[in-house]
Amino acid sequence: MPRLVMKFGGTSVANVDRIRNVARHVAREVAAGYEVAVIVSAMSGKTNELVDWVKDANALYDPREYDAVVASGELVTAGLLAIALQKDGVKARSWQGWQIPVVTSDAHGSARIAEIDPKNLEAGFAQGEVAVIAGFQGVHKETGRVTTLGRGGSDTSAVAIAAAIGAERCDIYTDVDGVYTTDPRIVPKARRMERVTFEEMLEMASLGAKVLQVRSVELAMVHRVPTTVRSSFDPPDAARPGTLICDEDDIVEQQIITGIAFSRDEAQITLRKVKDSPGVAAAIFGPLADANINVDMIIQTVSGDQSTTDMTFTVPASDYQRSRAILDEARAQIGYAQIEGATDVVKVSAIGVGMRSHAGVAAKAFRALAEKGINIRAITTSEIKFSVLIDAAYTELAVRTLHSLYGLDQARAWDDAVSSGSRGLN
Ligand code: ASP
Ligand code: MG
Repeated sequence: MPRLVMKFGGTSVANVDRIRNVARHVAREVAAGYEVAVIVSAMSGKTNELVDWVKDANALYDPREYDAVVASGELVTAGLLAIALQKDGVKARSWQGWQIPVVTSDAHGSARIAEIDPKNLEAGFAQGEVAVIAGFQGVHKETGRVTTLGRGGSDTSAVAIAAAIGAERCDIYTDVDGVYTTDPRIVPKARRMERVTFEEMLEMASLGAKVLQVRSVELAMVHRVPTTVRSSFDPPDAARPGTLICDEDDIVEQQIITGIAFSRDEAQITLRKVKDSPGVAAAIFGPLADANINVDMIIQTVSGDQSTTDMTFTVPASDYQRSRAILDEARAQIGYAQIEGATDVVKVSAIGVGMRSHAGVAAKAFRALAEKGINIRAITTSEIKFSVLIDAAYTELAVRTLHSLYGLDQARAWDDAVSSGSRGLN
């Protein structure tokens, strides 16, 4: 029998009523002839509450115990969904990460999945049983300790399970009906995409679209798992297909640019009058890398005197203070005259595999932004995306400008209600 993975996020299992509704979606697919594995998140808000409790107990907590606590949210929803399915006459049992087992690294709080042996789940399928799996959690092989996969990690659980059991598809049910060309709260004319390539979705997720955890998209791409994003609020008997994330070959009409993403989690740092000699970049970025700080955009300019240069780069806003401290400490070694920084900046990106085969795509954007009086502080490009760093005050104007520039606006304004916070972690 074909297999299917269905994943339900926090808002979809926020209370027992919604869990009953999820059970009806699952029953539909069982009736359609699938062997089904369901992955659930914790009830929305639950994981945040658990994290707060841990920090309250001790700000310098033991990460192994953090995982023991925060993994509990998913245990509740997995058990409740199994009960709701049984009530509807669907055979089901719940699975915790260690019972399958989902074996992970021992990086508590952001563990990586090492392997999933499907044989226990398959034994259940053979009994006609739906497997209801607690997402977000795994177990470390040697220590036997419970691990978690990082915030939003149940998306990754779902795709990994889909790959392990050879599922035909991984359906991610959430509180929006698909992936949009940009955030509809910023651009009311944003459109739901019918299809998007793995590569584009990976860029969009990495560059700020919060609909899926980045690692889940990486996994889907590596294992070529067709994945959809769709609404759990559709009536179970009239569920729409949502957005399909798939291979480029499966998309007939490819646009040059498919989406505009933005991220406010950016900070800019500039070092003035850095020596222009070999080893300087290493002296600056080495200590930041050692501290696990992800440097993104980098610009080096030639200063007037030819012997020194200015170095500008970005780091995540949350690492800004730490970066400043590290650079202050390394000042003598790097040898810069002055350090400047800004946190009121935003990175706006345009993504599309069509950029590979079309020239001048980014140049068009720079012109359009200039016409609106938006100053570009930094630029980066890759094969299928370009990003500009601008003042945060211009976020909406820039996103809207690029969205219409590349023909992404839909004629009719986006009019479905989006529940608040829907694009955050759930
Ligand atoms: N409950 C976890 C979180 O809030 C995992 C997830 O929902 O994906 O991060
Ligand atoms: Mg989520």
